[in-house]
Amino acid sequence: MNTMNKLKNVKYTNLLINNMTEEEIINYQEKLLQKQLKYVYRNSEFYRQKFNEAGALPEDIKSLMDYHKLPIFMNKAIERESQKESHKRFGHPFGMHLCSSPDDIAFTGTTSGTSGSPTFTYTFTKQDLNFLNNYISHMLEYGGVHSGDRLLFSHALGIYATSSILWGIRSHGVLPIDVDVRGGSKMILQYAQMTKPNAAMMTPSLALHLIDKARESGINVGDFGMQSIFTVGEIGIGIPEIKKKIENAYGCRVYDYLGELGFSCDSDDYYGIHCVAPDLCIFPNDIVDPETKKPIQINDGSIGEMIITELNLQALPRIRYATGDMVQVFTNECPGCGFKGKRIKVIGRTDDMLIIKGVNVYPSAIKRLISNFIPNVTGEIRIVLDTPPPRVTPPLRVKIEYGANVDESNLSDIEQRIKKVLHTEARVTPEIIWCAPGTLEKALTKTPLFEKMY
Ligand SMILES: [Zn+2]
Repeated sequence: MNTMNKLKNVKYTNLLINNMTEEEIINYQEKLLQKQLKYVYRNSEFYRQKFNEAGALPEDIKSLMDYHKLPIFMNKAIERESQKESHKRFGHPFGMHLCSSPDDIAFTGTTSGTSGSPTFTYTFTKQDLNFLNNYISHMLEYGGVHSGDRLLFSHALGIYATSSILWGIRSHGVLPIDVDVRGGSKMILQYAQMTKPNAAMMTPSLALHLIDKARESGINVGDFGMQSIFTVGEIGIGIPEIKKKIENAYGCRVYDYLGELGFSCDSDDYYGIHCVAPDLCIFPNDIVDPETKKPIQINDGSIGEMIITELNLQALPRIRYATGDMVQVFTNECPGCGFKGKRIKVIGRTDDMLIIKGVNVYPSAIKRLISNFIPNVTGEIRIVLDTPPPRVTPPLRVKIEYGANVDESNLSDIEQRIKKVLHTEARVTPEIIWCAPGTLEKALTKTPLFEKMY
């Protein structure tokens, strides 16, 4: 690795918070929360109604403990309903939970809408954007990306959530080379060669895909001379083999990030997203049981559904919003960099969850466990479903691509080892269907985990 930095300690974005104890951070969040709850109550009919339904007033919420007693205010389905209503009544798509004037919106970004109509979740005023830019700037600085640098930005561009990151990149004085991922790998590589970016932002699967595509054209991605790569979405670099493969090929450090909420550190091993933004979101101090939505006490290693409550944002703050993302929270100091705050790892989606003989199984956990067998496998898998989830009649059928250099006579041995790991770690005994390398289709954006036969 030619440009590796010395291991750096992750700090909170807001420097004031670095001097606070964990208890003081919670107190600070509670103050910001009280202010935000009063703000959304005054400015949105939707939130007023939610408080009324709960029989509470913002003034009643004095602590996080009080807050956790409130019901869930929103999820993706409720958000869509709220949008439908504002569209009908006021002619705008942002939802009844909009707290600012539609005139003051400076950016709107949607979720991709792969399942159902898109939601305008990432809608910000100019002030919101300026506030959020601090977190992007902090992350870029941590990754050694400075003013004057160029950054290859390859996501679906336009009205998508990731496009909001571009504001932060520019405000940091960095020039984004924004190449739409839909242009294909050839175009992305061409722009990378022409502009010699110091860093890149993309999904981990695209970073992997470009390594092979470049090689086919006689290009070595290591020659781009990148300083760092920031990946978002998917489990990706939480899998040691994938992190190592990207870092070795590009000759730089790869970081994983979760929007403005945090990023992983400069360590050879992956220790999750470091939650650097307690002044932006109550996250991760609010996790619930995905079935009952009852709060889960946070200890080192606790697992639950991530509930989002955004602080300080004006336009469309999410309040007690059930994300459907299952996370594991770590409270111990990071073994890699010494960060004292909380860290999280994304485990999967509540709606991907399968129930096999009463056991909850997360497909992404299966993928991660199987990926530990790279290079005996490629890491590409599909779970074959004959009926709609979550209930699966055993055995669970899993298609796995074996590695390019694997002799087929060794497959039964590898199969036994994989089955053993899945049995002990994920409590599932699958039927494995071997597939030749490269036969399971790879997507540049989000690779599906399921093959639906129903
Ligand atoms: Zn760390």
